[in-house]
Amino acid sequence: MLFPQTYISELKDKIEIANNIVLISHFNPDGDTIGAVSSLYHYLKLKNKSSKVIIPNEFPNFLDFVMTDVSYIIASKNNNEARNLIDQADLIICLDFNAFHRAGDFIKDILLSSSKPKVLIDHHLEPEIKNFDLVFSKINVSSTSELLYEVLSLIEEKPFLTKDIAQGIYVGICTDTGSFSFSCNHRRTYEVVAELVDNGVDVEYVHQEVYNTYSENRLRLLGFCLSERLTVFHKQKAAMIYLSKEDLKRFNYQIGDCEGIVNFCLSIKGIEFGVLVTERFDRIRISLRSKLDFDVNQFARKYWNGGGHQKAAGGHSFESLEWVLEKLTEQIKNSCKE
Ligand code: 5GP
Ligand code: MN
Repeated sequence: MLFPQTYISELKDKIEIANNIVLISHFNPDGDTIGAVSSLYHYLKLKNKSSKVIIPNEFPNFLDFVMTDVSYIIASKNNNEARNLIDQADLIICLDFNAFHRAGDFIKDILLSSSKPKVLIDHHLEPEIKNFDLVFSKINVSSTSELLYEVLSLIEEKPFLTKDIAQGIYVGICTDTGSFSFSCNHRRTYEVVAELVDNGVDVEYVHQEVYNTYSENRLRLLGFCLSERLTVFHKQKAAMIYLSKEDLKRFNYQIGDCEGIVNFCLSIKGIEFGVLVTERFDRIRISLRSKLDFDVNQFARKYWNGGGHQKAAGGHSFESLEWVLEKLTEQIKNSCKE
């Protein structure tokens, strides 16, 4: 059994007695957190439970298709509604983040002052257990969406997958594994995917929506990164790409346009550590990826106020872009001095 029977019964009871359930994704939402909230929303609807999804800030357009029939609000655009929803909720379920601050400062503060029961379903290291009433945490799964499938399977005796529930879970698994290229060495992931396909997921359709819906600007931005903004540190087996505010403006940056760019660093033979630095309006964002043993989660926690997983992590800085690039270059060079 993945989780103690008491956890399962408790979650079942909490859902049963709740009338207003709020589902919350993390800030800067990705396919896993969006897939998971969408899937759980459809599951609760099936159980005749009224729920509402709160997304801290806007999600990329390529995820629109998973959210079409979901009732949600973007908290950054509707502060008051988000606050009211959380205040009126009788159950709060957080998906794909391990600490309140990962839902952004605004949601974090509301959650911290809320006395409502809170459930966490997540696959990140070191969950903030003290802030939740019930925690479903497992790190050696492909994604939170896969974990959600396991949790729902435990609370449901009967088959429960509709096409909408299955599709959200598939989107989470597929995006969080980089289309089955990392965190995907467990047989179980494929057993779950087989169930999802059996229940209506059109894998080809999902891939078209997620990967073949670039705008022309997004594709040109990618080309620009690779030809003009990539530095390779062959000796240190590292590669770094950066984008300034002006670069993003030049290509009419839209949310989600930088998704996946960091992975190109690892597509170079022999490169094991990839970094993407982007200058955002209020901070410098750092995305980190590792191909082998180097632990980018530790690196992000130690130096860049961040975290994540061993092979995919992120962080940020409030210093200048130049300072961050210099510091990262120094850190990379020091990692392999001759
Ligand atoms: P990405 O580089 O795609 O933004 O993030 C990769 C992974 O690192 C994701 O699993 C994400 O949850 C985690 N991550 C990204 N930024 C942060 C951060 O600032 N803090 C923490 N704790 N995790 C982060
Ligand atoms: Mn995830």
